[in-house]
Amino acid sequence: MPKSDDQPDRQYQGASTKSVHGGAARDKGFHAMTTPIVQTATFTFKNTAELIEFLDAKVYGGELDREEYARYGNPSCWSLEARIAQLEGAGDALMYPSGMSAVTSLFLTALRPGTHIIMTDDCYRRTRQFCLTTLKKFGIETSIVPMCNYDALEAAIIPGKTRFIFTETPTNPYLRVMDLARLVELARTNRALTLLDTTFATPVNLRPLEYGIDFVMHSATKYFGGHNDVLGGAIAGDAGRIKALKDARGMFGNVIDPHQAFLIERGLKTLAVRVRHQNEAALQVARFLEEHAKIDRVYYPGLQSHPDHEIARAQMSGFGGVVSFEVAGDIHATSGFIDRLRIPYIAPSLGGTESLIEQPAYVSYYDLSPQERQEAGIGDNLVRFALGIEDAEDIIADLDDALRQVPAS
Ligand SMILES: *Cc1c(COP(=O)(O)O)cnc(C)c1O
Repeated sequence: MPKSDDQPDRQYQGASTKSVHGGAARDKGFHAMTTPIVQTATFTFKNTAELIEFLDAKVYGGELDREEYARYGNPSCWSLEARIAQLEGAGDALMYPSGMSAVTSLFLTALRPGTHIIMTDDCYRRTRQFCLTTLKKFGIETSIVPMCNYDALEAAIIPGKTRFIFTETPTNPYLRVMDLARLVELARTNRALTLLDTTFATPVNLRPLEYGIDFVMHSATKYFGGHNDVLGGAIAGDAGRIKALKDARGMFGNVIDPHQAFLIERGLKTLAVRVRHQNEAALQVARFLEEHAKIDRVYYPGLQSHPDHEIARAQMSGFGGVVSFEVAGDIHATSGFIDRLRIPYIAPSLGGTESLIEQPAYVSYYDLSPQERQEAGIGDNLVRFALGIEDAEDIIADLDDALRQVPAS
């Protein structure tokens, strides 16, 4: 990662210091505090000698401290990528224009026909769809196993063919948490790589590379950007593997726009402050809901009632800002409750400053019949509440008001 000469990259201890300063390339060229938005399609060379110096470094491997053409990279991204790498404790990180762009590029780059991947069932629907349709078209098979079922996971491994085990932690919408040490041991024994989507955890709450996970991916649209105003994706891992992804990105052309990178870097500065607040507020909200007569069940890894509470406590430094729950009532009682809320917006997504709420039966699974939804484990009365940075007392008062009017069932 290119750095300015006068300020060596420093390693910091805390997630908040890293969020603000990690990997910051202090380019004094413009004396700007912030990373400039370098709005250009190409980069110029003073003369042929400078061009040759660059090409030597590029072709024969040397320190590259500049860019040549914007599809290969843009300086607006350098400190963002370095900062994410530092937050994850990774060799390097790479930005993409969306989370889906990150995960699909990784699979298309790392897999070839005849290989096989395993993914867990409680995970992002588009990722699963991509594996079952596009990857299948290229002769790559996908097995889907129940989340946190390690025996099923082991049984699904095809020796010599299984190249990736892909999972999420915590998952959507049930916030299941994988035992990472166990997962890594299984994968390594069988020479498979691991990819973990930890969008819901962020490196503030979970640092999967410390457990030996090979690649971490994030939808930067969520907590990294943090303001519900920009899309982005990131992958972090070993520097050599990230370099291979960067070369592939130069061919795919799915490079992040400099303005997008600027917004994500700005959002990232408050990542730790936001996430720590959300951890605290979400735990209070989850406890409130668990006690409430109009609520059937709450899914939050910070609660003792959650099936993965113990492993979440051991692995994570906070339980995140998403709380899922089931209202005591049918699909209409549930949507009526949602419609009465004043604070959260009805919208997909999560991780921004504004609270968002959704009823998965509608938002993500509307195309399925009630029967299919039930088979997918999505109840009509399920609600996903993704906390923003509002105060817990206000959120709780809002929930309480709206729940009071849920008819007794
Ligand atoms: C949103 C999301 C994605 C997809 O990311 P985009 O930025 O929307 O492309 C992938 N995984 C998880 C867990 C997500 O929440």
